[in-house]
Amino acid sequence: MTENLLYEGKAKKVFTTDEPDVLLHAYKDDATAFNAKKRGSWEGKGKTNATISAALFSYLEQHGVPTHFIEQVDETTVKTKRLEMLPVEVIVRNLAAGSITRLLGFEEGRRFKAPIVELCYKNDDLGDPLVNWHHLRELGVSDEDLEFCEELGLKVNSILAPFFRERGITLVDFKIEVGKDRDGQAMLADEISPDTCRFWDAGTNEKLDKDRFRNDLGGVAEAYAEMLRRVTGC
Ligand code: ADP
Ligand code: UDP
Repeated sequence: MTENLLYEGKAKKVFTTDEPDVLLHAYKDDATAFNAKKRGSWEGKGKTNATISAALFSYLEQHGVPTHFIEQVDETTVKTKRLEMLPVEVIVRNLAAGSITRLLGFEEGRRFKAPIVELCYKNDDLGDPLVNWHHLRELGVSDEDLEFCEELGLKVNSILAPFFRERGITLVDFKIEVGKDRDGQAMLADEISPDTCRFWDAGTNEKLDKDRFRNDLGGVAEAYAEMLRRVTGC
């Protein structure tokens, strides 16, 4: 099989394959935070994120969510459909953490009355700013696609929050991305992992996600390994 590097991002390399509508996502051990101002890396990160993300995408597919997931090929590689990505990051929040504590002065850990959906413009140079429908329309995103993004975010949350609760984890917040296939079918894309979610142990509120790296809390590889265990049971 001929593989060509299509794109190298901060956490993954994306390769084309002999099949024009199929990509390989090779998860790297690299980590970045604060819009890539902070960089690091640890052994096993690619494996934990690829495996957690593959398991969650497979679970979401089984629960009626359209996704790009095809199969996990090896420890660090996931095969997906090739999509045209929307320039949008969809964030869903159940509890206050991260940027919303600064935006609205909320205390960390405040539980929201209902999940809060935010839309950001996916643009590294601008630091992925929080935007609204008016901005995204001007950037060429249709109302139909924006509605899909928000509904998808809430649907993913309604499936994953109980999934994690059963595993002793509070799903605090997460980010997803959306893409469209050649037929214009929109679906969930990219990854769902400790890089893109906040996970707190439900008993102790211990952070088991990228905040350990962002805030130099230590034990980052152990936290990712623990999330792999909670998700896959091994
Ligand atoms: P970043 O671009 O934020 O540094 P990554 O290192 O995770 O992120 O790179 C993966 C890139 O692949 C992202 O830009 C993401 O939007 C894109 N992507 C994710 N899923 C697909 C897909 N199914 N088809 C095409 N591109 C995708
Ligand atoms: N997130 C992400 N990629 C981004 C921005 C945010 O995966 O480019 C995730 C982040 O890990 C968290 C959620 O989205 O789970 C909300 O992030 P927030 O807006 O609080 O940003 P932060 O303060 O973490 O920069």
